Amino acid sequence: MVVNSKDGKELRSFKFKDEDPSQEVRAVERRILLETLANQLPPNTIRFSSGLKNIERDGSSGETLLELSDGTKLLAQVVIGCDGIRSRVAKWMGFSEPRYVGQCAFRGLGFYPKGHEFEPKVNNFYGQGMRVGIVPVSPTAVYWFICFNSPTLGPKITDPSILKQQARELLKNWPSDILNIVDLTSDETLTKTPLVDRWLWPTVSPPASLGRTVLVGDAWHPMTPNLGQGACCALEDAVVLSKKLAYALKYGSSPSAIEEALQSYGSERWPRIFPLSVKSNFVGSLLQWDNSIVCSVRDNIIIPKLVRLGPMLEHTNYQCEPLLPNLVDSKV
Ligand SMILES: Cc1cc2nc3c(=O)[nH]c(=O)nc-3n(C[C@H](O)[C@H](O)[C@H](O)COP(=O)(O)OP(=O)(O)OC[C@H]3O[C@@H](n4cnc5c(N)ncnc54)[C@H](O)[C@@H]3O)c2cc1C
Repeated sequence: MVVNSKDGKELRSFKFKDEDPSQEVRAVERRILLETLANQLPPNTIRFSSGLKNIERDGSSGETLLELSDGTKLLAQVVIGCDGIRSRVAKWMGFSEPRYVGQCAFRGLGFYPKGHEFEPKVNNFYGQGMRVGIVPVSPTAVYWFICFNSPTLGPKITDPSILKQQARELLKNWPSDILNIVDLTSDETLTKTPLVDRWLWPTVSPPASLGRTVLVGDAWHPMTPNLGQGACCALEDAVVLSKKLAYALKYGSSPSAIEEALQSYGSERWPRIFPLSVKSNFVGSLLQWDNSIVCSVRDNIIIPKLVRLGPMLEHTNYQCEPLLPNLVDSKV
């Protein structure tokens, strides 16, 4: 990992094998990850493009009634709400809207059909109230992001040409390499996202499950991206929940075995995700400093002399126990 100042001067470079060999960064293109996961399932297990319009408890059966935007109605024994930061399922369960943290992010994938020349490193550039990251994800694609302070949200813009223009404007005095990647970014990979989180205060926030409905990923614990853990935590959630459900289905004898499995998932995951959400927010405030004196101290003292990567990334060492094949092959 390399940390640079806004003008491209290297402030520090870290090697995971020197800092903490148990840690590493893997950049995975979202599309590839989703395709890989989906391909593990039998054909037609997933029904795509099924927007959830409404959710309610079915009084007679105690099951959950889901109404999709095409009018289809489904009666579900178990609902796993993994519908992201604006989750309808979470809203129905009584969760508050995620809170805007005063920062936005542009993200995109720059395409280099003949191959790029970036080394396989995470490159960070720190400015005042803004930082940029560049991470190669394949021999021909480079992921980039810009996080910038923005006290208000402004109008929602989806036109890629305007978004690209806005990103270019932010990068006006930054190294030209970064601008080139933005120019090589296809419209469909370019997004601008307001950064939000929701802290799951004990006793104040609703639990992760309500009856046989449960939340996973951003739907339950939206967190800012400053630690790069949101999707990682969503995957961990999925592993822990799968195991709990598999046990309940295979060995549970009481009628409430599934509800208890969902509650147990929530209890196991909360101590992991609550501190991470808080830490991520805190780290974001530090990284987005816009005071010139503070930024100078950061660039000249804190990053070159004080930062140690190992302890800072210790949270990535979470171990999910493996899914047991005999359970996965059972009724789940
Ligand atoms: C700038 C930025 C950088 C990030 N960097 C990292 C990183 O480096 N590492 C990391 O681990 N995480 C990172 N994250 C976080 C990561 O993107 C999220 O945590 C992750 O995508 C959450 O996955 P999810 O499946 O819970 O939700 P999502 O990825 O949001 O998926 C939700 C899905 O639900 C669907 N949906 C929504 N509403 C409905 C509905 N009503 N009906 C049906 N479907 C619906 C959506 O279409 C979508 O497919 C970053 C986030 C941002 C904003």
